[in-house]
Amino acid sequence: MEQPIAVTRQSFDDWMVPVYAPADFILVRGEGSQVWDQQGKSYIDFAGGIAVNALGHAHPAVKAALVEQAGKLWHLGNGYTNEPVLQLAKQLIDATFADKVFFCNSGAEANEAALKLARKRALDNGNAGKNQIVAFNNAFHGRTLFTVSAGGQPKYSKDFAPLPGGISHAAFNDLAAAAELINDQTCAVIVEPIQGEGGVLPADAAFLQGLRELCDRHDALLIFDEVQTGVGRTGHLYAYMQYGVVPDVLTTAKALGGGFPIGAMLTTDALAKTLSVGTHGTTYGGNPLATAVAGAVFSIINTPEVLEGVKQRHQWFIDGLNKINQQYPIFSEIRGGGLLIGCQLNKDYAGKAKQITQLANEEGVIALIAGPDVVRFTPSLIIPEQDVKEGLARFARAVARICS
Ligand SMILES: *Cc1c(COP(=O)(O)O)cnc(C)c1O
Repeated sequence: MEQPIAVTRQSFDDWMVPVYAPADFILVRGEGSQVWDQQGKSYIDFAGGIAVNALGHAHPAVKAALVEQAGKLWHLGNGYTNEPVLQLAKQLIDATFADKVFFCNSGAEANEAALKLARKRALDNGNAGKNQIVAFNNAFHGRTLFTVSAGGQPKYSKDFAPLPGGISHAAFNDLAAAAELINDQTCAVIVEPIQGEGGVLPADAAFLQGLRELCDRHDALLIFDEVQTGVGRTGHLYAYMQYGVVPDVLTTAKALGGGFPIGAMLTTDALAKTLSVGTHGTTYGGNPLATAVAGAVFSIINTPEVLEGVKQRHQWFIDGLNKINQQYPIFSEIRGGGLLIGCQLNKDYAGKAKQITQLANEEGVIALIAGPDVVRFTPSLIIPEQDVKEGLARFARAVARICS
């Protein structure tokens, strides 16, 4: 085989559509919660590919599932079903409120399916005017035109007008504001139990409970976007379980594939029949390779050891971050659930989240931002204690530098 050509970070600027501004090094290998770049420098991975690599890099059981399936069957298209997709569907159904699953390839696609289901369901019920969607400021639901319009960050949607209509936004965690918008013309309310991209902002239990009641009163579907919070991220299999508020539709992606692209929309029998044969679909969704990998990921995460371990790791992070903040007071709040943690920068450091993560890279740790003022951590759910300690020590050095 021909040798692949040599590439550098400059190649990105030369050849890639400039829609991202990646770090100035290239990672080439990962194992557990450590990754290495082209120069062999090691980093502790506190980002987990944006809440995706829930079992770290190259997990042996996940790799084995991938390799085994790779030798059998990769793809068929949805004219033919397959064993891994049905097995994963049953795993999801047994573990959640859902009776039926629709598979796709990303979080945006899962939300797209959920919103389309809600509109069509109202239409099928003879209520064509019941097409309004209520969403929240600062929310993030993906980048398709429909989902980016449902998202509550106009900076992501405004350049693509005309946008799909019938979507309105209320302030997050403001039940009275939501109640003003939700009425009999509302077909769905879409909400993240913890706003991830918007800054790691947990919903209040009373807010979600109130939305449930409003949806029931107006026969609207309550859609929980658990693309970021799902599959163990909060120390519960899905965040709705901890809130005790059951949605009508739940979307899940990111951690579901542990790094292999997959998304899913979960719902009830009664609602699932809305999407009858031919009314929605995807070429790759539910292909045997993706679902075999996700099945392995899911069966490891959906265990008391892993879920309890997330709560323990949450405490390691909170303790370590509090200690850093005592020495170098830069955070006004450290919040979130499980291993979805956001550190709000105080006003002296406003706008510096990106700069902090760049310094963190230099010190050998990978972290995320959630907006300009929040440093976010979404590591592997099974990150070893030693890596948490070492990563926080490196992060502390980055914080020391921004303070000096
Ligand atoms: C990441 C994310 C999405 C979009 O998922 P993609 O796989 O990028 O399409 C949607 N909703 C939430 C809450 C997310 O965090």
